[in-house]
Amino acid sequence: MTSYSHSRISSFENCRLQFKYRYIDRIKSETEGIEAFMGKLVHEVLEELYGNLDDARRSAPEAYGERFDQLWQRGFGPQVRIARENMTPDHYRATGRRCVESYHRRYHPFDSGEVVGREMKVEFPLDRQGRYRMLGFIDRVDRVGGDVYEIHDYKTGSLPREGALASDRQLSLYEIAIRQRFQKVSEVRQVWHYLAHERTFVEQRSVDDLRRTGQLTIAAIQTIEATTDFPPRRSALCSWCEYQNICPLWEAERAAASLAASEAPLELPAATAKGDTPSHALPPAGADPRTGQYRLFE
Ligand code: SF4
Repeated sequence: MTSYSHSRISSFENCRLQFKYRYIDRIKSETEGIEAFMGKLVHEVLEELYGNLDDARRSAPEAYGERFDQLWQRGFGPQVRIARENMTPDHYRATGRRCVESYHRRYHPFDSGEVVGREMKVEFPLDRQGRYRMLGFIDRVDRVGGDVYEIHDYKTGSLPREGALASDRQLSLYEIAIRQRFQKVSEVRQVWHYLAHERTFVEQRSVDDLRRTGQLTIAAIQTIEATTDFPPRRSALCSWCEYQNICPLWEAERAAASLAASEAPLELPAATAKGDTPSHALPPAGADPRTGQYRLFE
């Protein structure tokens, strides 16, 4: 039986073809968006931080910035894609570093609650029969006195639209999981940390809110399971889609880009002195001056 995740359902809601590529055809992507890459490393550093609180209390924020840089240097490579124009890897690296350092400054000495889970895996049913199952990883769960819990979620992107968190599905699903997992839960707070903006948002849900989230999620799963047609849907999110290079909606752009590349003049390194072009910059004798390839046939 398939266990669904919030991101699996979101993918279907955003673009059915992307959902098909990712979850039905299971096409593996060799590239990764730089926002996802940076966010993954920030999560990794904060998980380490909460894994050794004695160290975190003794250390300066910069120690976590350096740890972030270390992970960045180890993982960054040509597989990391930048979708936004005029952005450089350094911009994202600096943002990620700032996220972990400012988080450390704000929450030191990290004594607001007892950490009961980091990257906590939760797998839980949405119905009594266990027909509809969910799977997720919660960034952090704290017990903050008595039977009160907090679900923490780290975000490295832009701030949510006004009122958007009131109908957020992901953390409400996690709350359903927490209420199933722990025997006594009197209260749950859903906490979002928008790290790049140093903003924190807290929401609480009623039993009716959670019931409604569960029902809507079951309805979404039923729609997915009844679907046989997976058309593409162009949106702003296409820029971050790992399947843009095979998506039929982007065929015209791919053709135009490859035509532009084939017509672009050959770029030569700057001459070492006036009128002096280094020989390694020139196409070999007998080669096509545009492509640098030997012309075997005229
Ligand atoms: S590029 Fe856009 S339309 Fe194509 S699969 Fe991805 S999200 Fe869907």
